Amino acid sequence: MNEENPKIEDIVSLCKRRGFIYQGSEVYGGLSGTWDYGPLGVLLKRNIMNLWWQHFVEARDDMYAVDAAILMNQKVWQASGHVDTFVDPLCEDTVNHRRYRTDHMLKDNGINPEGMTMEQMDAAVVEHGVKSPDGNPLSQSRSFNMMFETVVGPVADDKSISYLRPETAQGIFTNFKNVVDSFYPNLPFGIAQQGKAFRNEIAPRDFIFRSREFEQMEIEYFVHPDDWQQSFDELLASIHQFLEKLGLSPENVHELDVPEEERAHYSKKTIDIEYDFPIGREELLGLAYRTDFDLSNIQRVSKKSMEYQIKGTNERFVPHVIEPSFGVERALMAVLTESYREDEQNGEKRIYLALPEYLAPMRMAVSPLLKNKPELVEKAREVYSALKKKHGNVMWDDNGNIGKRYRRQDEIGTPECVVIDFDTLEDDTVTVRDRDTTEQRRVAIKELIG
Ligand code: ATP
Repeated sequence: MNEENPKIEDIVSLCKRRGFIYQGSEVYGGLSGTWDYGPLGVLLKRNIMNLWWQHFVEARDDMYAVDAAILMNQKVWQASGHVDTFVDPLCEDTVNHRRYRTDHMLKDNGINPEGMTMEQMDAAVVEHGVKSPDGNPLSQSRSFNMMFETVVGPVADDKSISYLRPETAQGIFTNFKNVVDSFYPNLPFGIAQQGKAFRNEIAPRDFIFRSREFEQMEIEYFVHPDDWQQSFDELLASIHQFLEKLGLSPENVHELDVPEEERAHYSKKTIDIEYDFPIGREELLGLAYRTDFDLSNIQRVSKKSMEYQIKGTNERFVPHVIEPSFGVERALMAVLTESYREDEQNGEKRIYLALPEYLAPMRMAVSPLLKNKPELVEKAREVYSALKKKHGNVMWDDNGNIGKRYRRQDEIGTPECVVIDFDTLEDDTVTVRDRDTTEQRRVAIKELIG
């Protein structure tokens, strides 16, 4: 764990203060596990998702994309195993009846729950005398299914039950045959999807890290079973490149080769990529070799062939799959953790976000030195319009004195502030102030907007 990591409260407070992330339904007292993105959070999140898209989809010629419906036929979740097995162990404080995840209670008490069955977890609770956060005894655990159930259509019966998707992956698998029929790509190839996922987490916590509604970026990469290792290694390397583009330092990123007893039974290999979050080292994303588990299940339940035929041969088989699965919120939290800095400027504490330029919600801010001088304002508006035309995400900022503006822009990670002063009117140069070094340089307007 990096000693210099900010505290989670610092990040939550900055996100709220500066319009990145608010508690969902806050005005009504909130809705646990939901978060709303404010004006700057939307931009940062979109920049992260676009970077992923460029890196994994646009820059490659073996990727296709889908955008599947969130509501799917209930058979999808029966075939995938989610109806029966997408469960977490739930225990209860026997006094105040607050509910918790048993594995989290163990972890919080320094006991590693990985690989334990529910019975083993209960035994560990008893053996180590684990109590609820309020100091009361915990009940025995029971399985709690995390899917949000809903009813589709006006008649509520068994057939109309559906679920808000708990992962985007199944929308890819169910479209595998469609994509093959339309494009007939050569193996290996991938199908990517970004979109919302919903899990009724027993105890959402740690800001956006564990939410009930969140966003995923997933790829199902279809391979010949003999070639899985090569594609797995290639995707793992590509993941690390992407994490570097996010600005994450390699020393804060860790690979956890998940041991066999802790992997899903169908997975032959899983590597969790963990990151040193302010809450500790936790899963940022997963890379799993899922064999032909999903497509074979679809084939079994739908009775439609999911086989792929190698062009020009008679070789037919159900492709195997490598799945890189990213959570947008966790990527965003890692980016905020990594970029959050505090230093001292002129004897005052300063907070800034050292975001890579292409992730920053605002590329530049433009200000007239004094907002009550019409000639400065007019010139500044001209420069602002030209820069906005060039970059798009440029902010007009004439609120408060110049020191306050710098502080505000530093906190939202704007790489450069452009200030129009009286010299500008004489020589068409402006002050450009750098976020990280706070150094100021004179730059010709022509050069800036060129
Ligand atoms: P965890 O063990 O932390 O609950 P998981 O192993 O259940 O996560 P996966 O099912 O592998 O997670 O989901 C893939 C990715 O989706 C995770 O690596 C994470 O980035 C993201 N994710 C999963 N659950 C949540 C959640 N409740 N809130 C935010 N992101 C999530």
